[in-house]
Amino acid sequence: MAQKLNGKVALITGASSGIGEATALAVAAQGAKVALAARRQDRLEKLVKQITDNGGQAFSIQTDVTDETQVTEMVQKTKTHFGSVDILVNNAGVMLVAAVEGADTSDWRRMIDINLLGLMYATHATLPLMKAQGGGHIVNISSVAGRVAIPDYAVYNATKFGVGAFSEALRKEVSKDKIRVTVIEPGGVATELANHITNLESKQKIEEILQSTTVLESEDIAAAIVYAVTQPPRVNVNEILIRPTEQE
Ligand code: NDP
Repeated sequence: MAQKLNGKVALITGASSGIGEATALAVAAQGAKVALAARRQDRLEKLVKQITDNGGQAFSIQTDVTDETQVTEMVQKTKTHFGSVDILVNNAGVMLVAAVEGADTSDWRRMIDINLLGLMYATHATLPLMKAQGGGHIVNISSVAGRVAIPDYAVYNATKFGVGAFSEALRKEVSKDKIRVTVIEPGGVATELANHITNLESKQKIEEILQSTTVLESEDIAAAIVYAVTQPPRVNVNEILIRPTEQE
């Protein structure tokens, strides 16, 4: 059966869990060859096996997106292995929420390094390839927190508002090169994201919200990404905002 992403190559950061993992499975199910990047190689290898067992093509590239050299190598390895990079999903991220006053500022640096600089390095390394190929699609994972600022989220907000601003300027720069840019803005999704919060009070608040309402599943976000990347080349889905029904 003809699948919508046959012949396409997708490189996904943060593919070892949550939204990135679900996206890898979803685009592979549409026929894309997938390059899976993250730090946890064992998790990536399990996903490679799952995709190849299903008849797809996948390989893993252990990458820390805060290291520009590793990110450049990630992009080059994808091109060498599969021949192109048609879709880049900049998904790797952390949400280390806490009030500004008294915050552990190393959490700020991690968020900025991963959520913003990592995404920028990957974009920077991929653009020349996409331009030479005659087009491509960059999907940047922002958040509802990229649109709405709330207490405890100030620095996470700053990174995700930054993703939105970077993406919109980028879109205007590269549209002439047939490179599409899409921003995905999820509300609450049941993933491992909250596990990494270092401020125990903020972590507890989020865990309570996650337990008391029905949040989204990673597959819901993956479906939105598949929608965006399977439109005809003339269509650039700029932005998708998806909240759980019960989220304000
Ligand atoms: P997870 O914690 O499940 O996934 C985060 C992914 O990022 C993991 O694969 C992790 O892999 C990767 N990652 C973290 N640090 C690095 C690093 N330095 N280098 C490479 N990869 C890294 O959370 P989600 O799936 O929820 O998060 C995915 C994206 O979705 C993030 O950008 C997040 O901000 C965004 N988002 C999530 C929402 C939610 O409610 N869950 C809501 C809105 C947006 P590893 O540890 O193996 O490196």
